[in-house]
Amino acid sequence: MGYSAEIYELAEGELEKRRLRSEQALEKRRSLLYARSPRAAELERQIAKTSVAAAKEVFGGADLHSRLEELKRENLSLQKELETILTGFGFPQNFLDPWYTCPQCRDRGDVDGKMCSCMRALLRQFSYDQLNKISPLSLSDFESFSLDYYSKAPAGDARQSPNAHMTAVLGFCKKYARTFSTASRSLLFQGPPGLGKTHLSLAVAKELIDRGFGVIYVSAPALLTKLAKETMSFDYREPSSNTEQLLSECDLLILDDLGTEFSSKFTVSAIYQLFNTRMILSKPTIISTNLTLHELQDKYNPRIISRIIGSLDRVEFVGTDIRQLKRRQKRQTANDQ
Ligand SMILES: [Zn+2]
Repeated sequence: MGYSAEIYELAEGELEKRRLRSEQALEKRRSLLYARSPRAAELERQIAKTSVAAAKEVFGGADLHSRLEELKRENLSLQKELETILTGFGFPQNFLDPWYTCPQCRDRGDVDGKMCSCMRALLRQFSYDQLNKISPLSLSDFESFSLDYYSKAPAGDARQSPNAHMTAVLGFCKKYARTFSTASRSLLFQGPPGLGKTHLSLAVAKELIDRGFGVIYVSAPALLTKLAKETMSFDYREPSSNTEQLLSECDLLILDDLGTEFSSKFTVSAIYQLFNTRMILSKPTIISTNLTLHELQDKYNPRIISRIIGSLDRVEFVGTDIRQLKRRQKRQTANDQ
């Protein structure tokens, strides 16, 4: 699945650490045993020697079957003696084997050329970490999204109540996450602040990460600050950042709060380039914004905005600001008490 090179490096680094840890732990157990039983050290050496000798017989193609059988017998009896020593000390039979975190792949990340489940779990974990590093928010889920805050009475001349509308939006987002593929459409979450746009985009992110997709969630102001900093820094000791590559190649990019960032020539061109690259690569993106189409056109170049908006399916968020409702409820409870 589409993880970035950086995430792969992190996962491989973790596997290497695990292998090293199990080797170091094995050395400790070995010294402990040898201190108690010098005979065990001797037996291990003998076992290794007979194994090498047996291998030589096999590869040498010698038809000295009797010699090979003799070595095997010798090896077996040495192993038996070593086992007896281990049992005597109350140690398990695998005391002198490396204890891997994942015995299936021996902490190598693949089994018969196929990616091991432990590697998949690590990729997911590091993808989560990366996401939370860029975004200060923690991931939400669909279960914690409450429709109670949306009125059941239609507002103005709307045919549908906010509650009915948002029930459909929640269902749509769940289906989007459940059936997501890299061929999925890009979405625009649009509506005034406090109507659950961030909550639902984070819920989509969580579900996709759980399914093994590479997702990046980032707020537009945080992202543009980061990109600007990287563009301004000319430190030759720092290898060039792969933020842009990461953003272009992830399976789903969620850009939250578009329009709240400080607007400049740089931010406009950075946003346009990012979209253009993802459109060329046919990678889906979810943008959320508090601004209307007119406000977006005022803020950015109208041509750029129509190109971006034209490639997105619009999902409208309606209702009354939930944060305000919650504050009002709190005040109400405080007054009642
Ligand atoms: Zn494994």
